[in-house]
Amino acid sequence: MIVILKQNPAQAQVDKLVSWLNDKGYDTNVSVGRQETIIGLIGDTSSVDVDLLRSLEVVEDVKRITEPYKNANRKFHTDDTVINVGGVKIGGGHFQVIAGPCSVESREQVTEIAKCVKAAGATLLRGGAFKPRTSPYSFQGLREEGIDILLEAKAETGLPIVTEIMDAAHLPLFGDVDLIQVGARNMQNFELLRSLGGAGKPILLKRGLANTIQELLMSAEYIMASGNPDIILCERGIRTFETATRNTLDLSAVPVLHRLSHLPVIVDPSHATGESWLVRPTSVASAAIGADGIMIEVHNDPPHALCDGAQALTCEAFADVMGDINAVRAAMFAEK
Ligand code: PEP
Ligand code: MN
Repeated sequence: MIVILKQNPAQAQVDKLVSWLNDKGYDTNVSVGRQETIIGLIGDTSSVDVDLLRSLEVVEDVKRITEPYKNANRKFHTDDTVINVGGVKIGGGHFQVIAGPCSVESREQVTEIAKCVKAAGATLLRGGAFKPRTSPYSFQGLREEGIDILLEAKAETGLPIVTEIMDAAHLPLFGDVDLIQVGARNMQNFELLRSLGGAGKPILLKRGLANTIQELLMSAEYIMASGNPDIILCERGIRTFETATRNTLDLSAVPVLHRLSHLPVIVDPSHATGESWLVRPTSVASAAIGADGIMIEVHNDPPHALCDGAQALTCEAFADVMGDINAVRAAMFAEK
């Protein structure tokens, strides 16, 4: 990190700043040039409060040379991370499709959908048991019973299961879940993230509705720094001024995240667009841009879905989309 000082700083001010930085545990290297004086901070600067430093009277500007995330940073881990989710690999050329209903509604519903998405080529089953709903009067999910139903569908189909956690106190209920999802609304629930450091299983971390790519990586860093290296990142659209779609799919986040981080990156076109007819083109684009996976909501009876029916694909539509995704993958990438 480089601290650029205002022009012609008084020596006493420079000395005071250097000893303040040293007291905080940072090694410094002061370089006095003809135009400007700069202080280089050496070593681990991830805990530096850049805004505080910039606010000091003698400081003109502060520039980070290394990112504030370490564990998630590709600079320190050049190979792609491959994550094993209940025997299914994702990342580093291993591509997977997660499919299933927005919410677990009944045993029959989940079983029927699990069988049809498996037949179409999905490799993981999703379904919300605990649902983060905007309205407290909307369907909140079947909670524990929902997880039991997913586990039954897993036993029947062999598909590993993905479901969302909203409260760290629920973690014991997730013992047999293969991939724990942290939803967009909880991306910055730092206590929850910290508790998932000890989950002992992979985490699917969705980007928040109004969060930057760096904030997403910092949230991954929370979980990783707490002891869990197995994070899959998910771009699910962000809120912009555009109202034609539920969210705005930030597809360029995929290559940007791949450049910045070694973690696998998947796309959720269902929540990104909010409309079933947009799921096919955005899924194809997600595959083409190099996502490590795609998560799609599928329902056996979308008009009667208890949540997100407008964006749900029928089983038949999902099979068609799978065909297109596979065609793009075959044309562009070597399968592992
Ligand atoms: C979900 O995947 O069911 C969900 C609620 O998604 P998000 O957190 O991205 O809104
Ligand atoms: Mn949903």
